[in-house]
Amino acid sequence: MATEPTFVIVGAGLAGAKAAETLRAEGFDGRLLLIGAEAQRPYERPPLSKEYLRGEAGREKVYVHDEGFYAQHDVELRLGESVGSLDAASREIELDGGERIRYDRLLLATGAEPRRLSIPGGDLGEIFYLRDLEDSDALRERLDRGGAIVVVGAGWIGAEVAASARQRGLDVTLIEPASVPLERVLGAEVGAVYRDLHSDHGVHLLMDTGVAAFEGDGAVQRVRTSDGRTIECDLVVVGVGVQPRSRLAAEAGLAVEDGVLVDEHLRTSAPGVFAAGDVANAHHPFYGERIRVEHWANALHQGPVAARAMMGRDDAYDRVPYFFSDQYDVGMEYAGLARTWDRVVFRGDPATREFVAFWLAGDRVLAGMNVNVWDVSEHIQRLIRRRVAVDDRRLADPDVALEDLAGAEEGGAP
Ligand SMILES: Cc1cc2nc3c(=O)[nH]c(=O)nc-3n(C[C@H](O)[C@H](O)[C@H](O)COP(=O)(O)OP(=O)(O)OC[C@H]3O[C@@H](n4cnc5c(N)ncnc54)[C@H](O)[C@@H]3O)c2cc1C
Repeated sequence: MATEPTFVIVGAGLAGAKAAETLRAEGFDGRLLLIGAEAQRPYERPPLSKEYLRGEAGREKVYVHDEGFYAQHDVELRLGESVGSLDAASREIELDGGERIRYDRLLLATGAEPRRLSIPGGDLGEIFYLRDLEDSDALRERLDRGGAIVVVGAGWIGAEVAASARQRGLDVTLIEPASVPLERVLGAEVGAVYRDLHSDHGVHLLMDTGVAAFEGDGAVQRVRTSDGRTIECDLVVVGVGVQPRSRLAAEAGLAVEDGVLVDEHLRTSAPGVFAAGDVANAHHPFYGERIRVEHWANALHQGPVAARAMMGRDDAYDRVPYFFSDQYDVGMEYAGLARTWDRVVFRGDPATREFVAFWLAGDRVLAGMNVNVWDVSEHIQRLIRRRVAVDDRRLADPDVALEDLAGAEEGGAP
């Protein structure tokens, strides 16, 4: 008697949850397990540094699905259970408790985890990292008590935490080795917009310096910077980037390099094993190279593509990378990928915090960011995807509709 096929998803985050939803929606009727190390059913992380952290949104706002969804769709949701190892040859995983489960298809959607700072004092109390709902709960509770906070790292998480902490009335110092916040992605020119935004909201910005040590008696009381300054504080949040959780794959001998290597169908080097979301370093047909994207939209859309690949379909993941951020009353969307560029063209005055910035190489747009300007990201994505040759003056001219520059919509994903 043939047994029904078993599909296992490791990692009950956004990518895993969306994969499970898609498998059922598209007719997979075998056994389906969604295994997650956290106690929570799948939830979205973006609110954890924004409205949820500030206490403006409750838990019900963050979950991906209603509580009953998994049972209704016959998804065996195993929460609070960690997969300790993978045997790709015998197609088995082993849970930390020792249970072994044989799979026909396996999706690794294990996400990423914060990089830790290993400097003197790194293990003192009142030093926070932010990834999970519990981390956000603990930090929110600490913010409620007020005081002076030092945020280490002015990337997206650090900048958003700094904004939320200021909005909660704390005294905030933001420390960053680059010359402006978000410099790695936005460059110095556009990063300066965020420098001014934080400074206008009263954040003390210490740029061009790192952190040498945390000091205190049991709990952190001071941060020593690498340029010799000392900042008194009551708590610290460290946001110095994440690393992909690829241990399972690496130990099982799968190809791993800055994440689990997958092709455009999100297939790993092991037969029957797929990867999606923050952990996947995926070949991107549009860019002709592998990219690993650590953003919400990537997890949201790769989950379904992986699910279809698990069912033997050959959809490719080729969306233009996209992410968003909210800080104070400034919201933005960024689309594209610009590692190097020759210039930035602005449509609108960045000083007004209502503008679009384009990163260009030659006459091509590599990336675009709309700041407090809405309903244009799809046009920007089309400009990028179609490699439209643009003229700087028309790009900068708000009277020329971006839609006209990008050309008509054809349908399908941007
Ligand atoms: C505070 C915060 C704010 C963010 N804000 C934004 C934003 O504004 N915009 C944006 O675009 N992106 C944002 N992001 C990024 C976005 O949330 C991530 O890209 C997204 O969560 C990735 O989803 P994922 O499913 O790949 O991984 P994850 O969300 O990391 O989920 C992976 C899950 O797998 C579990 N797991 C790992 N290993 C195992 C194992 N061996 N066994 C069982 N379970 C395991 C983990 O516990 C975790 O629950 C933010 C992230 C954070 C942390």
